[in-house]
Amino acid sequence: MKDISSLEPKILWHYFADVIKIPRPSGKEEKIRQYLLNFAEKSGLETVTDKTGNVLIRKNATSGMEAVKPVVLQGHMDIVAEKNSESNHDFDNDPIRAYIDGEWITADGTTLGADDGIGMAAMLAVLSDEGLKHGPIECLFTIEEETGMIGAKRLEPGLFNGKTLINLDSEDEGELFIGCAGGIDTLATLSYKTKPVHNKFLAYKITIDGLKGGHSGDNIDKGLGNSNKILNRILWNAAKLYKIRISYFNGGNLRNAIPRKASAVFIIKKKYQNIFESYLNKISGEIKNELAATEPGLQINYEHAGLPKEVLTKSVQKQLLNAIYACPHGVVAMSQEMKDMVETSTNLASVKFIEGNRILITTSQRSSVDSSKQDIADQVASTFLLAKAKVEFTGSYPGWAPNPDSEIVKIVAGSYEKLFNKKPVVRSMHAGLECGLFLEKYPDLDMISVGPQIKGVHSPDEKLHIGSTQRFWKLLVDVLENMPEG
Ligand SMILES: [Zn+2]
Repeated sequence: MKDISSLEPKILWHYFADVIKIPRPSGKEEKIRQYLLNFAEKSGLETVTDKTGNVLIRKNATSGMEAVKPVVLQGHMDIVAEKNSESNHDFDNDPIRAYIDGEWITADGTTLGADDGIGMAAMLAVLSDEGLKHGPIECLFTIEEETGMIGAKRLEPGLFNGKTLINLDSEDEGELFIGCAGGIDTLATLSYKTKPVHNKFLAYKITIDGLKGGHSGDNIDKGLGNSNKILNRILWNAAKLYKIRISYFNGGNLRNAIPRKASAVFIIKKKYQNIFESYLNKISGEIKNELAATEPGLQINYEHAGLPKEVLTKSVQKQLLNAIYACPHGVVAMSQEMKDMVETSTNLASVKFIEGNRILITTSQRSSVDSSKQDIADQVASTFLLAKAKVEFTGSYPGWAPNPDSEIVKIVAGSYEKLFNKKPVVRSMHAGLECGLFLEKYPDLDMISVGPQIKGVHSPDEKLHIGSTQRFWKLLVDVLENMPEG
């Protein structure tokens, strides 16, 4: 099989192959940091490691380009560590096993880490390629982007000098990102009491499966099903009609993923068995019909379960089912300025029974307008406050508002058009980037985010498009060569 390092341009793929070999899950960036420090030392480049563990590597301007505006290139060191259930990959120690599959590079049962390994590789290639023409370069490698943008959050003012920053952490070829949404998580905790179960009941388990799920920012406008909402709707109606009593409810996983699975166990009086099963078939058919276009794989299955020892008290069950029903999920507002762009959204991510007789409901909100982000978070909070839950906000980060006069956007768009004979799409993304946090410490930064085509980000299906990566490199080289003086 063809080796990744044999692809063109060799220098870029050489570093990509190197970087993905180094274990680097979020929070465990020591090995990749050491690799960067060794690289810089061997190359005779100036390096700064800040208190947080972010690394900055500087390269001087090439001869005759000393007066050109300095450019900061930026990407993150860590990757999302996701694997298939069959994979025995150890993200702390094993190299990612990547291979070429037609036009794509993908990994064997794990995330590939092209997010953001390709951004890192591009920076390393710029730093070591003696054939490029460019002004002063500063490459910033941040930590723990994927688990809360910790490196960007703790970045100190004055680490870098450049006033122009190119973020290399987006995933859509042909799209230049000039803004992003901010985010916040709203967590509700509901304490519960239980009562014992008698023998005149039957128990059922309902499972929701087969939904697409995906990133709660990028996919929130795709009309996908939410497993928690679907399950809750079935239970809410069953409670009203057949007085079912819930023993547990478990759905969703990551706060930034639309939930794909959920299940619940509950009891029902034996006399309702037949009528209940026909109700279930009817409502399942209705829900599948509503989602037929977007979720053809939806499965709603039920089976008999062992009788649980306890169920929720009536009042807690009511609070839970009403709150989840009332809690919004999906697109809240579209942008009136940018076509087809989601401005504000919310994701009802997970419902978990946790220790201490508590139910934890995790939701997350995004908006490109900071006040709207808090507004929707407060709306979600109010829903759960009505249900007597405790509510807290965590993980808030700011958005990055587009700057219509941005110089770097004009330069990159100009290069793109010149090289590829078509106009790039210039837009904001409905997801988080570290750029919003950089602005807090470096308010004068002029920024853009570009990247090659990556699909299935944050999942074992992650794959990087080879041709788009070659064009991404060409674009980056051209932009650096054509930066103005100043
Ligand atoms: Zn990333």
